[in-house]
Amino acid sequence: MHLMEKEIKNKFIGAFNKEPLMVSAPGRINIIGEHTDYNMGFVLPAAIDKHIVFAIAENGSQMHRLISYDLNDEIDVPANSIEKTEKHWANYLVGVIAQIQKMGKTLSGVDCVFGGNIPLGAGLSSSAALETGFAFALNEVFNLGLSKIEIVKLSQMAEHEYAGVKCGIMDQFASVFSEQDKVIKLDCRSLEYKLYPFKLDGYDIILCDTQVKHSLASSEYNTRRHECESGVAILQKYNPKIQSLRDVSPELLYQHKSEFNPTVYKRCKFVVEEIKRLTDACEALERNDLATVGKLMYSTHYGLRDEYEVSCSELDILVDIAEKSGAVIGSRVMGGGFGGCTINIVDKTKTNEFIDIATKGYKAQTGLDLLVYNVSIKQGTSIIN
Ligand code: ADP
Ligand code: MG
Repeated sequence: MHLMEKEIKNKFIGAFNKEPLMVSAPGRINIIGEHTDYNMGFVLPAAIDKHIVFAIAENGSQMHRLISYDLNDEIDVPANSIEKTEKHWANYLVGVIAQIQKMGKTLSGVDCVFGGNIPLGAGLSSSAALETGFAFALNEVFNLGLSKIEIVKLSQMAEHEYAGVKCGIMDQFASVFSEQDKVIKLDCRSLEYKLYPFKLDGYDIILCDTQVKHSLASSEYNTRRHECESGVAILQKYNPKIQSLRDVSPELLYQHKSEFNPTVYKRCKFVVEEIKRLTDACEALERNDLATVGKLMYSTHYGLRDEYEVSCSELDILVDIAEKSGAVIGSRVMGGGFGGCTINIVDKTKTNEFIDIATKGYKAQTGLDLLVYNVSIKQGTSIIN
């Protein structure tokens, strides 16, 4: 057991004086496939070696006693009248309980201490880890018989209804279904998935955290969704089977360019090409050809910057530094945009050099401190022995 896990376990034993079940739930990255989820396309996520750890046990009462180790905060929640709390962090857990109850299952009280090392709000999905880890833990403690996909879906609903974030399903799916050294090609329409090998021989995955989050993100997100829908409406006239940009080939879109408003065209072009890039990246992974995946990642970034227009100067600066460093075979903004992290596939022999260049360059150009995470791909939510 690692130090962090021991700390959480000791905190639990100190607070509740019994042995807990220990569960770990990871954060995630997404290699390629951005803004494709709500267009019913594909994404390519994987869980990482940053996680939230839960120590949990039944307490035989009608009260849940929940302790956040990192925030040094706690809350008691009555088991039979679940509602939103004034503590933001607790709502992710309460939301999970509420969803399980909605499925007709009764839960008596649990004692739980949790904490972890996924940076909060950096786009690595600490919120999904919180939900899937707690759902997984409750499933074990009470023998609820929930399947993996049920855990994924109820966690997503917890985020919708108790955190008020209408997220897609990728984050929770990756947190639960990931496997070591593999990435998941997830079909966001059917939820079918396929694992592809992601062997990092000679490379590191380095995340560069801009530490900014521009407020444009949510309004622009809604605008993009509408722009995509209006593109679909144009093409549907030619083929009623077209339900989303997922059903549109790049060639079909190019043919009808003149019927589009130029902005809507650019948005749709990005999405249909992004779905194609993801498919190409999966083929490259089957050949263990990371160089091709890296090139596609750069193309994704330029598309997000110039066509989908969801990047920002901080992200562009980092991708530019990566490209010029000669150390990075692929770099792009990860997540919705307007801040968060870039994901970089870096030649291992040059990782330290790159981190140094990026840290100094970012500070010089933005005045901001760069946070850097070196991550590897790990299995999904599981019991810690
Ligand atoms: P992201 O999922 O990108 O990390 P979100 O804003 O969706 O960012 O979720 C972050 C929220 O999740 C935090 O504000 C906090 O309420 C909760 N959270 C995540 N990790 C922890 C943790 N280790 N301890 C307590 N709360 C956490
Ligand atoms: Mg989140």
